[in-house]
Amino acid sequence: MRRVKPYPKRQIKRVIGTYDDGVEGPLIIAVACLHGNEFMPYRAIDYAVKMLEVEHITKPDFVYRGKFIGLCGNLRATKLGQRFIDKDLNRIWSEELVERISDHQNIPECEEEAELQVVWQRILKEVRQHKGGPVVFLDFHTTSADGGVFCMPAHERASLDLAFELYLPVVEGLMETVPNSCLSFMSEKHLGKPAVAISIEVGQHQDINSVYVAIAALINAMRKTGAVQEEDVESRHDDILKRYAEGLPRLSRLRYIHPVKRGDGFKMEPGFSNFQSITKGTLLATDASGSIHCQEDRILLMPLYQEKGSEGFYLIEKDESFGYF
Ligand SMILES: [Zn+2]
Repeated sequence: MRRVKPYPKRQIKRVIGTYDDGVEGPLIIAVACLHGNEFMPYRAIDYAVKMLEVEHITKPDFVYRGKFIGLCGNLRATKLGQRFIDKDLNRIWSEELVERISDHQNIPECEEEAELQVVWQRILKEVRQHKGGPVVFLDFHTTSADGGVFCMPAHERASLDLAFELYLPVVEGLMETVPNSCLSFMSEKHLGKPAVAISIEVGQHQDINSVYVAIAALINAMRKTGAVQEEDVESRHDDILKRYAEGLPRLSRLRYIHPVKRGDGFKMEPGFSNFQSITKGTLLATDASGSIHCQEDRILLMPLYQEKGSEGFYLIEKDESFGYF
């Protein structure tokens, strides 16, 4: 695995970059680092904005439609290189909390509430100012184990449709299983406009390839939503995604998430990777109450090989009718 040098902390900003040629089109909001230890998508967004700027200079007929904005989710945790400080920022997006912190007389009760306040206000401001074209929300993550390249759409049919277009394995059912994720909050009900929302897992936390996958997914999303033209996009972006997706099921459904509580001594057995087929009875992990075995034949996702995290592993079931990449 190729690793990269750390980013200078002083360069880490809330707004990673924006791009807007003043032409009507979609509003694409990409969020990196809702988990502060997942920095590769931040780099990807930074590079992508710079690529658009170069494109604008080197190709006179290049047109970007709509607006792009890349945001850093948990800025304070990102500067510390930690997943979170007090609470998981990707598990607190409840209507009750957003309502409370939207009233400026209420002081956020922890670091992540303060982060959510700033991120939500910025998203709302962008959505309200945006005229014409759909709102597209892309939420980027990385995982502690290798091989985790896939996407999870929000409820709306349009989200699933876009997810299928990205050349990434699609895993459905996150919204029903993970409460109060940021993705689940990016709906028409809360934004006031129809929105397409997808979480994208782009690979391992420290792997430079996670940057390439995130750039490819982002550029692909720009193309599929009409922000950039087909002829302006190099085919290598598709090739990168196709390489990762090869042999994987196009559609799977989330069946189980193993909850981890602080102090329960959860320890994943070594050597598991994303999209590994697991037969019923396989020992997956241990904790204070003993051994944790797989209860059905399933596919493993996101085995936890880091200290912080409230989920030990995900088990998914492939939908054979959609076939394989
Ligand atoms: Zn994450």
